[in-house]
Amino acid sequence: MAIHIQTPVIDSRALSLRSGKQVRLKLEALQPSGSFKTRGIGHACEVYQSRGAKRFISSSGGNAGYAVAYAGRMLNTPVTVVVPATTSQRAQQLIRSEGADVIVHGESWMEAHAQAQQLMTATDAFLHPFDDPLLWTGHASMIDELAQQGERPDLLICSVGGGGLLCGVVEGLQRNGWGSVPVLAAETAGAESFAKAVENGGPTLLPGIHSIATSLGARQVCDRAFALTQEHHIESVVVSDAAAVAACEEILLEHRMLVEPACGASVAALHSASPLLQQARSVVVILCGGVGITAGQLAQWSADFGS
Ligand SMILES: *Cc1c(COP(=O)(O)O)cnc(C)c1O
Repeated sequence: MAIHIQTPVIDSRALSLRSGKQVRLKLEALQPSGSFKTRGIGHACEVYQSRGAKRFISSSGGNAGYAVAYAGRMLNTPVTVVVPATTSQRAQQLIRSEGADVIVHGESWMEAHAQAQQLMTATDAFLHPFDDPLLWTGHASMIDELAQQGERPDLLICSVGGGGLLCGVVEGLQRNGWGSVPVLAAETAGAESFAKAVENGGPTLLPGIHSIATSLGARQVCDRAFALTQEHHIESVVVSDAAAVAACEEILLEHRMLVEPACGASVAALHSASPLLQQARSVVVILCGGVGITAGQLAQWSADFGS
């Protein structure tokens, strides 16, 4: 039994008219946990359970932790999520609403993560937010669906945080015979760990994260995400926070869906000067979603960025 749902892919008339391309949106924002993360994490949880795991442990207060909590409830397996004190009350509440135990520990993610590792026993499984081949295989199911849902696009756009989504997208393209479909990998300035890896010829640790797109805030991409640049045509694009926020407003106005700036980055990439984009007539954007957003927060950001 899959933990994720099949999502629609829809034509975006508004984005098509604005970009001059045929733009379709793969609506991962509709997953029950609000983001694509349910695909990979759901798959990994099922596999770990079949190998005997009696509890799932996460150290993410974001979409990954929420997806683990959701998967645990679906699989009748207890979940413990250790988060730092900086995690919002709302995020903690969301995770608890799935029946998971939330332990608040430390001031930063590193301390929470260390504590989560301390808790691990032989019958626990740790769910990494992006660096796990099981996750990538689960994420790849979105491309299986796309292949069943219509024709091959000239280009695929997805966001990159730690690179798990990118690894899954490429795995999906390759296993569906779409290995020649290039990928535009979108990030915000201040969270551009993939762009830095491409620039430096290997994963590079960013000194810090300076973007509101916190779901893209991995300081370093996983090795596999960088290695894929040698096997697949991937271009990196970096957009501003302001452009990501404007794209969230565009999705809200045109498609009545509220998504995080981490997702807005992929939509903003449609309006970038990327060379790959110029050659493409049809584009699929992975609308990756995210629950770390409210209407009030988006309005505040829009006011802050003067859009
Ligand atoms: C996790 C996440 C990302 C980034 O995914 P990675 O696998 O870390 O690259 C982007 N957008 C949203 C909404 C996310 O939850």
